Amino acid sequence: MRSMVCLSVLTLCVVRLCLAQESTSAPPTAASGHVVVVRTHALIDGTSAQPRANQEILIQGDRITAVYAAGTRPSPPGAQVLDLGNSTVLPGLIDCHTHIFLQGEIPAAGGYDIQLLKFPASYRAARAVVAARRALEQGFTTIRDVETEGAGYGDLGIKQAINEGYIPGPRMFVVTRAISTTGGYPLEGYAPEIVVPKGAQLIDGPVEARKAAREQLDHGADWIKVYMTHRSWVDEQGALVSQPTLTLEEIQAIVDEAHGWRKKVACHAYNGIGLQRALDGGCDSIEHGLELTDAQVAQMVKQGTWLVPTLAVYYYDPDPPETPTGKRDRKRVEVHGVSFRKALRGGVKIAFGTDVGGFVWTDPIAQEFARMVEFGMTPMQAIQAATSRAAELLGERGQLGVIAPGAYADVIAVSGDPLADVGVLKNVSFVMKNGSVFRSTLRQPGE
Ligand SMILES: [Zn+2]
Repeated sequence: MRSMVCLSVLTLCVVRLCLAQESTSAPPTAASGHVVVVRTHALIDGTSAQPRANQEILIQGDRITAVYAAGTRPSPPGAQVLDLGNSTVLPGLIDCHTHIFLQGEIPAAGGYDIQLLKFPASYRAARAVVAARRALEQGFTTIRDVETEGAGYGDLGIKQAINEGYIPGPRMFVVTRAISTTGGYPLEGYAPEIVVPKGAQLIDGPVEARKAAREQLDHGADWIKVYMTHRSWVDEQGALVSQPTLTLEEIQAIVDEAHGWRKKVACHAYNGIGLQRALDGGCDSIEHGLELTDAQVAQMVKQGTWLVPTLAVYYYDPDPPETPTGKRDRKRVEVHGVSFRKALRGGVKIAFGTDVGGFVWTDPIAQEFARMVEFGMTPMQAIQAATSRAAELLGERGQLGVIAPGAYADVIAVSGDPLADVGVLKNVSFVMKNGSVFRSTLRQPGE
């Protein structure tokens, strides 16, 4: 049943894609003077506190040029009018923490390790292409993909193929290989005599740290991703402990280098010493931030550090309760909601991120919205975290995550009211990226 549904959705999208591709054979940024008017019953524009009723969005090429009350202006001659009926229109969503090179690996099927040890790079790239399409189908028109997990610079090629119109997918901000230390990333647990590949670029010392950042930036990384904590467990007092990886000198070298290139640094950090070094070292975004102290919240506010929490992923498949990893899995969930509430109350800037790829791409990315609301955000705050706030994190304020003149024409629609139930964001019925319709399950009047 489930596979049949998936298949029909897939077929539909392929058909729609062909239409979209035909109309924009040139690269998306060079979309022609095609003029479209999107008519909407309710508009959530990404920045305003309230939705607006009965609006029209004028799109020319790949940009939004005007937004106005429906019926107050004649449509330009030759414009294509898309009446989205009773649906709610929003900016294309942004997921700031994805992994298109992961597929929610289950241990029984070889888990993480088999990806690096047995799968050809081409197989992993093929699946990454599918993952990218899945993001776009679900209304995520932009992603920050935070490392390829042993697939080297593979994200650069996927991004290029999307930008050149060869495959459908969101616009991508990529980090390439990511950085950790010896003893700070898988593959692990093999005989010491055997050299196995690692899922990130491992460095030791500030010289190697800076060199790794330079290499990645030189090859085209949009961001640098660093793992500031690695192993985690529950100690005798019942507290969550995470192993710190980079020293302060190492992370400072990376941040200094990246900032010199006007690029930013995303730091995976659970809690404790590693998270503190991330903050002291000047990281731009804390990924996960499972357990923030009051002092760390204050430091984040002062420094303008972002939090990308990724709540939902930690609810997946905990190990049995009495095992060390099972205890760890439950503790992560227990402290994470508390940390999120604390950050929210304290005024930390929060952007939407999910770690999808850590769970399968067939599951809804938008499940994260319900967790953000469960732990204290209003639905509008959660939506803005995935639109205008996420755009701000990416340095794209006014360009992405907003429906306003001058922004890229990334527009989605859902049936129902996401402010009453954020769950409706799991069923996106219309997706436009760069002014081209990728997906529409809505019937046009007269169809
Ligand atoms: Zn991740």
